[in-house]
Amino acid sequence: MKSSDQVRILVTGGAGFLGSHLCERLLKEGHDLLCVDNFYTGSKRNINHLLDHPYFELLRHDITFPLYVEVDEIYNLACPASPIHYQNDPVQTTKVNVHGSINILGLAKRLKAKILQASTSEVYGDPSIHPQPENYWGNVNCIGPRSCYDEGKRCAETLFFDYYRQHGIKIKVARIFNTYGPNMHPDDGRVISNFILQALRNEPITIFGDGSQTRSFCYVDDMIDGLIRLMNSPDDFTGPVNLGNPNELSILKLAEKIIQMTGSKSKIVFKPLPADDPRQRQPLIDLAKEKLGWAPGVPLEEGLKKTIAYFEGVVKVGH
Ligand code: NAD
Ligand code: UDP
Repeated sequence: MKSSDQVRILVTGGAGFLGSHLCERLLKEGHDLLCVDNFYTGSKRNINHLLDHPYFELLRHDITFPLYVEVDEIYNLACPASPIHYQNDPVQTTKVNVHGSINILGLAKRLKAKILQASTSEVYGDPSIHPQPENYWGNVNCIGPRSCYDEGKRCAETLFFDYYRQHGIKIKVARIFNTYGPNMHPDDGRVISNFILQALRNEPITIFGDGSQTRSFCYVDDMIDGLIRLMNSPDDFTGPVNLGNPNELSILKLAEKIIQMTGSKSKIVFKPLPADDPRQRQPLIDLAKEKLGWAPGVPLEEGLKKTIAYFEGVVKVGH
């Protein structure tokens, strides 16, 4: 049995970028953590410093197989998140979102545990409405190279809402927009990690397309705060709720900023734009402000500074 204010929390995908920050924050808040990960994209490096904590437990497990544990709350983050990683084994990407979600929802049903799904802005696809509110149904290609992730995450949302309606479990659905910070996988090909590593190594900065496509980047600490607030919000608030930083900028501007902040000698080179690459993306966060009292507070420069410092360490030890 748990003590009164200590919650037993399962974080699936806890050795990944967001999961490792979430585990750290929840441990600091005094909770009893079970981190489940199959290390598909996650790394022990992200959680090594937590292994000796008396309330941290690590279980190597693939959530596409059933899981029997006893917890009170579940954050379901397990899923490769970068296009390179989720396209590496697209069938597994759909599986983790469908079979994996069914397993973890089944666990939540048996335990009557509250469960939060890490959904994504990708459910909006290449959006025809800008910025994207939660009631926009999206513009998603169901047969392209990004579909395993986009449709997988859409189906996961469907499953969450069907378990909610059919079985009455307590759900929370967060639509996470591009997030960055320390512990991002160095080889995951995401734009911020790519540009920073290229800049630190004085290698060409690879812009896909002409760089006019936009994204809105949220620093990881803000995102973790939003996820925890969502989990702790009243039971009648299920989401989906957008979590992200509305500060939108073009990929070209991002490249220029990173070159300037690192003092790099890198030149910008232009490469073909990948298929179905969204043209623009910016969250509307009115709902998060109203229901969670949440808005991101870390400016891009400050977040980039911390992320650059992290990757300087990565370059030094030669990962
Ligand atoms: P990540 O790849 O760093 O972390 C995902 C973690 O899940 C990894 O540790 C990986 O090993 C683990 N995992 C993958 N398949 C698994 C399986 N079958 N069983 C157990 N563990 C498995 O990615 P991230 O950026 O930390 O993303 C975490 C979650 O947030 C993902 O669900 C992602 O879709 C979502 N998300 C992230 C972003 C972002 O910008 N980082 C944006 C939108 C949504
Ligand atoms: N991108 C780029 N160069 C890179 C990596 C990414 O220009 O080396 C572009 C990519 O085409 C996309 C944007 O940056 O338009 C964000 O890509 P990322 O993979 O980080 O996230 P997502 O496309 O899933 O938002």
